[in-house]
Amino acid sequence: MRNDCPGCEARESCGLFGAYGVPEACLSIYRGLFSLQHRGQEGAGIVTGDGQRVKSVRGVGLVSDVFSARSWKELKGHLGIGHVRYSTTGSTLIQNVQPIVVECVDGVWAVAHNGNLVNAGELRAMYQESGAIFQTSTDSEVLVHLLADPMFRRRPHRVGRALSELKGSFAFLLMTRNCVMAARDPFGIRPLALGALGQGHVVASETCALRQVGAAYVRDVEPGELLVMDETGLHGSQFAEPAPRAAHCVFELVYFARPDSLVFGENVHKVRLRYGMRLAEEHPVQADIVISVPDSGNSAALGFSRKSGIPLDFGFIRNHYVGRTFIMPLTGQREQGVDMKLSVLHEVVKGQRVVVVDDSIVRGTTSRRRIRFLRQAGAAEVHVRISCPPTAHPCFYGIDFATREELAAGARTVEEIRKFIEADSLGYLSVEGLLSPLQRPNDFCAACFTGKYPLDPSRAQGKKDWETNRPDGELGLNL
Ligand code: SF4
Repeated sequence: MRNDCPGCEARESCGLFGAYGVPEACLSIYRGLFSLQHRGQEGAGIVTGDGQRVKSVRGVGLVSDVFSARSWKELKGHLGIGHVRYSTTGSTLIQNVQPIVVECVDGVWAVAHNGNLVNAGELRAMYQESGAIFQTSTDSEVLVHLLADPMFRRRPHRVGRALSELKGSFAFLLMTRNCVMAARDPFGIRPLALGALGQGHVVASETCALRQVGAAYVRDVEPGELLVMDETGLHGSQFAEPAPRAAHCVFELVYFARPDSLVFGENVHKVRLRYGMRLAEEHPVQADIVISVPDSGNSAALGFSRKSGIPLDFGFIRNHYVGRTFIMPLTGQREQGVDMKLSVLHEVVKGQRVVVVDDSIVRGTTSRRRIRFLRQAGAAEVHVRISCPPTAHPCFYGIDFATREELAAGARTVEEIRKFIEADSLGYLSVEGLLSPLQRPNDFCAACFTGKYPLDPSRAQGKKDWETNRPDGELGLNL
């Protein structure tokens, strides 16, 4: 979900959880959203139904802030969908919190979205031109207008036809009074997994949420697939042909997803472990200890330590009650978040040559601050190893990297970044090292590292940036 409010630069990614045929569905959705909290911390919502009535509870803040015992009295029924929202800049408005719920001429629809629609601007303008009024400033709402459009409403396969008008990345959950639907874009950019729970089914952005509610993982929702769950059972069909090559977001594996999730057929922890081992081969260093930037650097640091033989230790202690700095809304808050979130274990790093393994450098200011903390604690040397290639290009598909100008690697060489973050040495994983450990390396998007976008992002916000920086005018996948 992306905020397309004029003048607002917000970019968002989110977590989804849906259930059908599950008694007291709201409780499973609530637990599922808790497990997906890392995907969005600024708003949460649940919509449920019992076949007759549809009720929703939404609010700004963490899942634990939004729902209370009162919510469970409201949210009755055996079907429902939930959403956690992520926004890095701009105001967090209650009307942008999902699921969006609307009353159409043929009944209630609820919609929850993870991703970013690159043609949302033109669809929105088209509907506004014909008199439609939008409730939110998000791109996700265009699907509601497509569903209500008589051109689609009066024809068979209405939902599939509406979905096939969308371009960009999307995992959608939709709900009516008696049905839950799940869909994924033809490139499969964002993850969405199906699970079985008792007599019913659940769908979630990550399998960690399936496990949390006691559901068994069945399979991923396929790229271009629409899954319908209703009283007649579970039905899957293709609303669009899958793209010749999928473009799963590799950054989900590097940073975004939880280590205990299976994403795009890969266990996130094991992939990160391999990245760390590969990093040790590509950028060896003489050092005394390896430390990670917790939590998303943990697995790669373990891999680096195993391969290099340098012992792993705990150099940073994380305060788990501070939100992820990457998704704090404003720069000032982000820096304060770094101070609050990590403290250095002086007794571990003092006098040591330290290798710090981190999952990415986005703007560079956070890394520099951490390195300063380590030096203040007495580290003799600080060598930084990053478990992905330089993030040099913006993402148009739902992950916030700000603009190319703001990216540390947007216009700097690795040596210039090293100087900027004040490290003794800096090594990034190669693109080859990023993709080759994966089972299906050609089925991934790595555009924020390579600049090769799986589909034309020129209609998205950031068009100017794309047009200025795209390599050789080529659109392509991965390498
Ligand atoms: S550009 Fe990067 S963050 Fe965006 S979808 Fe592709 S790999 Fe993921």
